[in-house]
Amino acid sequence: MDDRELLKEAAKARAFSYSPYSDFAVGAALLAKSGKVYTGCNVENAAFTPGNCAERTAVFKAVSEGEKEFEAVAIVGGKNGTKPRSVYPCGVCRQVLCEFVDAESFRVITGEPDGEMTAITFDTLLPLSFGPKSL
Ligand SMILES: [Zn+2]
Repeated sequence: MDDRELLKEAAKARAFSYSPYSDFAVGAALLAKSGKVYTGCNVENAAFTPGNCAERTAVFKAVSEGEKEFEAVAIVGGKNGTKPRSVYPCGVCRQVLCEFVDAESFRVITGEPDGEMTAITFDTLLPLSFGPKSL
């Protein structure tokens, strides 16, 4: 699956966002080295703290099904009812991704599914990280 297709999968996942409090819907699509794609959306909660981001939803789905090696993640976001646009992962999601990715090769893709798209490597997103190799 190429980066553009992965971004479109993220946009599809965004449609399932449960975001009545922030009104900000996010979708993510995580490409495992096996070739399988795991999608996620943000899931908010009335108590706020228990909510989960789209990226972590995708990571936890994948790891809970036996995947631990990943090639790329695509992310889109935007207010509910608007066209998906570029967003980058929050700090917590960056740390969760850091556990499972090769920083120099893992791609983080974002943009508009039918428009401008960017891809960067994870080491750009979270330089000087603390991960499994730090221990
Ligand atoms: Zn996050």
